[in-house]
Amino acid sequence: MSDRSPYDFDFAVVGGGPAGSAAAISLASRGHSVILFERERFPRFHIGESLISTANDSLTQLGVMEDIEAASFPQKWGARLVSHDGSTGRGVDFAVVREVMRGQTWQVGRGEFDRILLERARRAGTDVREEHRITTCEFATEAVTLSFETADGRTGSVRVRAVVDASGRAAVIARKLGLRRDEPRLPNIAIFAHYSGVPRLPDDRPDDIRIVARSDAGWFWLIPITKDLMSVGVVLPKDLYAQLPQGTPEERLQQSFADTPVMAELMRNAKREWPVRVEKDFSYSTSKYAGDRWILAGDAGSFLDPVFSTGVAIALESGIEAAAELDRALARNDFSERAFAAFSRRQRRRYETFRRFVIGFYTPEFRDLFYDPHPPKLIFRSVVTILAGRWDASLRTRLMSRLFFVIVAIQRRFPLTRRRFRRDAAAGYPGR
Ligand SMILES: Cc1cc2nc3c(=O)[nH]c(=O)nc-3n(C[C@H](O)[C@H](O)[C@H](O)COP(=O)(O)OP(=O)(O)OC[C@H]3O[C@@H](n4cnc5c(N)ncnc54)[C@H](O)[C@@H]3O)c2cc1C
Repeated sequence: MSDRSPYDFDFAVVGGGPAGSAAAISLASRGHSVILFERERFPRFHIGESLISTANDSLTQLGVMEDIEAASFPQKWGARLVSHDGSTGRGVDFAVVREVMRGQTWQVGRGEFDRILLERARRAGTDVREEHRITTCEFATEAVTLSFETADGRTGSVRVRAVVDASGRAAVIARKLGLRRDEPRLPNIAIFAHYSGVPRLPDDRPDDIRIVARSDAGWFWLIPITKDLMSVGVVLPKDLYAQLPQGTPEERLQQSFADTPVMAELMRNAKREWPVRVEKDFSYSTSKYAGDRWILAGDAGSFLDPVFSTGVAIALESGIEAAAELDRALARNDFSERAFAAFSRRQRRRYETFRRFVIGFYTPEFRDLFYDPHPPKLIFRSVVTILAGRWDASLRTRLMSRLFFVIVAIQRRFPLTRRRFRRDAAAGYPGR
């Protein structure tokens, strides 16, 4: 590449998912030269189809809202919580949340959603290289050198000032530097596929996500991603997965539908349209989110269990914030880990805020209250505000949501509401 400057580009981004495209759009829009490497050719399949409200803020900031609106993705107004036998449950309505720009968001086929974002990165001036896999990343005092290999076997390298690692769960830098930390309390496995013939919700918000709790620690998602297709999956802690009869992933998925009455009914006329996929060990964090000349955005840093659909919103936000950090770093000519300390703190706070809810979800006392049809209104609204993505909500909201956890702790010992979920050892709650 060019030999006029010691750098081929100001910045490199590894990965063209939501985090990578968000970082590239934000950097290129500020006039920096950016190269983005994506190992696949888009559109490609990716799991992670249900958005939360704060994703709207990022999509607006990235200048893709019109394209997203035009794509006619199913509208998501919130979630419907349903217990395994349909005996209890409630709605989660993002429209009541006051601390977000817009409550309603979307359920997206990620092939098209990620393509729209990557295309926007290209239009903003990013040099987008699809089918280019980053193989190594070497750090020197003054530069980072990234080596790549193309789908047809060519190799090469670029020298940049700094890099955003947005390589998702491949986590190129965190793995290289040994920063990944497992989440021992979330040892979960997901099995999923796309189906036609699954009934939508019978009301004016037919495309909300349904989160069906099993009688044990597992749960199902149902996410409408087009007019005809429904993404359906089950998430099971490892111990429960081991209890399913041996079989192919499809047989295990069918078995899990069969043993939950609500799912058996919903899937009665379903036809599978895509292969069944399995994902394991997807919850982890990192000991740090940035270092000298590198920043981790999205899943490349940490990922939480999908129960509250936080992944894409975090990826977009952290990509945008990583770009702002690098812009400041360039102005000050300081790409040190110290210069990125505020970014790391923010990422950790975001992760910890959602983590508390996710860990809570894998306890029966949390579910008793979360699925209760008549929870305390103000407290539940605060919880919904955070689950709409507002991890940095107002102090009042944060205090109210803490109160929710106090009630959960009481429920553990003294039932404040009916205990509807199993508590025996075989129910598979990992933290118990
Ligand atoms: C079972 C399951 C269900 C989920 N459901 C939801 C949900 O409903 N809602 C939600 O918001 N999130 C969900 N998620 C999480 C969501 O998938 C991720 O959080 C989100 O995709 C993160 O975006 P990202 O840009 O960080 O990474 P990714 O979207 O994974 O993008 C990373 C990109 O980097 C590329 N790449 C990897 N390695 C290299 C390399 N060496 N060189 C070049 N390119 C590379 C990959 O090809 C990929 O395109 C779910 C996750 C799981 C496991």
